[in-house]
Amino acid sequence: MPGRIIAIDGPAASGKSSLGVALARRLGYAYVDSGALYRAVTLLALRRGVDVQDAAALASLAAQTRLVVTRPTVFDGRQYTVLLDGEDVTWDLRSPEVDANVSAVSAHPGVRRAVNEHLRRSIVHEGTVMVGRDIGTVVLPDADLKIYLTAGPEARAERRAAELSARGKAADYDTILRALRRRDAYDGGRATDPMRPAADAMHLATDEMDLEQEVELVLRHLAATERPTGGAGG
Ligand code: C5P
Repeated sequence: MPGRIIAIDGPAASGKSSLGVALARRLGYAYVDSGALYRAVTLLALRRGVDVQDAAALASLAAQTRLVVTRPTVFDGRQYTVLLDGEDVTWDLRSPEVDANVSAVSAHPGVRRAVNEHLRRSIVHEGTVMVGRDIGTVVLPDADLKIYLTAGPEARAERRAAELSARGKAADYDTILRALRRRDAYDGGRATDPMRPAADAMHLATDEMDLEQEVELVLRHLAATERPTGGAGG
């Protein structure tokens, strides 16, 4: 029997990747981070000097990008390795320059079309956990389970500051909070596929639970809604 498809959406630093990675590990599913694709297109645009408002140039960049996402190749806290034309750009995707420009890049419908095609091709038979902003609403509307994470901006800024300091990076709380609010407004306000919960999403307030509680809650929900295996005695 094929594994299920789980869509996790929510704002920046709401804990999507922590929950997604933990669930994928527990279930033996693939983990797909859609934000990494938008970040890779953004990094490429910045490197090539393409204007982040140039819809046509960005759409063709997104369609041509040779992007490979694999299991971690280095054990430095990463959840996966991203190769852009063979170069390991995993941590470059997390730079403040990419953070500041990714919402503008991802707002272009042509970029979203190219990324969505790539994402739908990433679904595997064993089961898939995909995280982002519009996975349950647009990318995988038929997902078996949709989860929408919420947490206040202050809690999310604290989480992001802690993650950065753990990697030895400068982490000014106020700067992070301002950048998160700006990205929320951009991602929630854009015309094409804005960030919003699917009507049938399960909502989880991640500032009220720890990761283990979230994982257990979702696994219990999955067990309770298990599809019949079919066949005699199944
Ligand atoms: O999840 P992450 O913070 O890495 O995403 C980076 C950016 O990519 C988001 O702020 C948003 O602009 C864009 N994004 C999106 N749709 C998705 C995932 C990410 O527009 N499904």
